Amino acid sequence: MSIALVIPDRKLDQLQMKLQQLLPEVAIEIWPQIQQPDAVKMAVLWRQPPGALSAMTGLQALHSFGAGVDNILVDTTLPALPLARIVDPALTSSMLAYLSGVVQHYQLRLDQFGRQQQLQQWKPRSPRRLQHICVLGLGELGAAAAVFFRQQGFQVSGWSASAKQLAQISCYHGADGFSAAVSQADLVICLLPLTAATENLLHQQAFARFKTGAILVNVARGAIVDDLALLQNLDSGQLSAACLDVFRTEPLPAEHPFWSHPSILLTPHISAVTNADTAVAQIAENYRRTVAGLPLLNLVDQLRGY
Ligand code: NAP
Repeated sequence: MSIALVIPDRKLDQLQMKLQQLLPEVAIEIWPQIQQPDAVKMAVLWRQPPGALSAMTGLQALHSFGAGVDNILVDTTLPALPLARIVDPALTSSMLAYLSGVVQHYQLRLDQFGRQQQLQQWKPRSPRRLQHICVLGLGELGAAAAVFFRQQGFQVSGWSASAKQLAQISCYHGADGFSAAVSQADLVICLLPLTAATENLLHQQAFARFKTGAILVNVARGAIVDDLALLQNLDSGQLSAACLDVFRTEPLPAEHPFWSHPSILLTPHISAVTNADTAVAQIAENYRRTVAGLPLLNLVDQLRGY
């Protein structure tokens, strides 16, 4: 019995070794060099090429190597098997540290002072008044971010697919709740999964519902944002700035206008990177559950897409 790591373009020796330490009796194989494809019980996936699992006829379970699963579900050859994802306090802490830094960056006007430095302009200004933060997506990461910023003293609103109740946070849901969630926010954080329902969700009409001069922070997936609409709204002043950690195409192509836009701060998809130590513990646990016939932890609803 074995586990296959199907994660192209990444050095996997460390991951293989750590998983082997937790499961000494199990062969940990790295795709595409799989010795015995029919012995593979679980495949650990991240951007797997279509058809990569076709020879693994004994597969019983699939595991994402990250919190998101959009890059896995896009594969139309994926076998109809349970799929689990990583849900990890270390990932949440990393995301909160990033978001906290971004909010302080804008509160301190480091974006504006950075531009002034380029022009050798000395123009002191008091901190930006960011009072209300909206979090789109109130799942593992979004709910943690909403609670964190409420604890920091911000007014917080949140938006999800189904109704939620979070203490001292104005929770809205569904298409009807979108305007109410975003309309008062000085800064909107996107922590939605990429699904058929959320692709291009942040388009021209959606940005029109934002408070004038709001800041967008996208740490979810690039394809949730309509790039052109974002640029138009930054140029018109409907949005005053955007911080983007994720992009429709990654790495962001050299010619993309986001690189040089004065109101965009971009980072190369680093806001919350999977921690190999905690991830292998979850993968090992789910492997043991598969072999024992138990349901996987952190199971994905593949019909919903998250
Ligand atoms: P999650 O636990 O699955 O939560 C998703 C949230 O989005 C849920 O509250 C869900 O509502 C809401 N939602 C889904 N579809 C919606 C829709 N059509 N309209 C309104 N709300 C909708 O996900 P998570 O673990 O918090 O992660 C969120 C995303 O962050 C991941 O999918 C991944 O793409 C991204 N991510 C990025 C990084 C990075 O480094 N940049 C790292 C980790 C994750 P319900 O609760 O009502 O279902």
